[in-house]
Amino acid sequence: MVRAYIGLGSNLDEPINQVNRALTELRTLSESHLVSHSRLYSSTPLGPADQPDFVNAVACLDTSLGAHSLLDELQALELKHERVRIQHWGPRSLDLDLLLYADHTIDTERLQVPHPWLSQRCFVLYPLAEIAADLMLPSGISLASLLPLCDATGLETLA
Ligand code: ATP
Ligand code: MG
Ligand code: MG
Repeated sequence: MVRAYIGLGSNLDEPINQVNRALTELRTLSESHLVSHSRLYSSTPLGPADQPDFVNAVACLDTSLGAHSLLDELQALELKHERVRIQHWGPRSLDLDLLLYADHTIDTERLQVPHPWLSQRCFVLYPLAEIAADLMLPSGISLASLLPLCDATGLETLA
């Protein structure tokens, strides 16, 4: 089993429901066990500003799936949520990003792990810290040391 972290995001079609549904679906992912997940957060959008705020969360998964198979499963879930890619960083019903896959570093055409923007995104770092406060990234940098460097303006926990 490998411990993986998944970033969830949605800003279309009832985002809270989308994220909650995705967390339920992650519980039934093959060869995997959902260990924990963060609370839900809201965040102001990256990229195009003329789109609704996002709902974000991070989930911790123990899995026997290889990293690319896990990405296949995550993309199948995105499709199930009728995600359509219209605009880069634009609105979406569900985004599932593989943030970390144990301490592996992966750099293939369709998969980069750790997720390339992980260290810069407060809507990923804060929920991640909620469920894995002592996490070390493969680079040897601690999650705790990244938090104060990240501007959390616009990030709020949802009740
Ligand atoms: P960002 O990657 O900046 O968060 P995004 O999530 O909106 O942007 P997507 O449209 O979801 O981007 O994905 C684009 C491609 O990124 C996917 O087709 C996938 O192959 C690739 N990809 C590379 N690394 C990862 C990763 N760690 N997790 C998910 N997708 C990845
Ligand atoms: Mg993303
Ligand atoms: Mg994505």
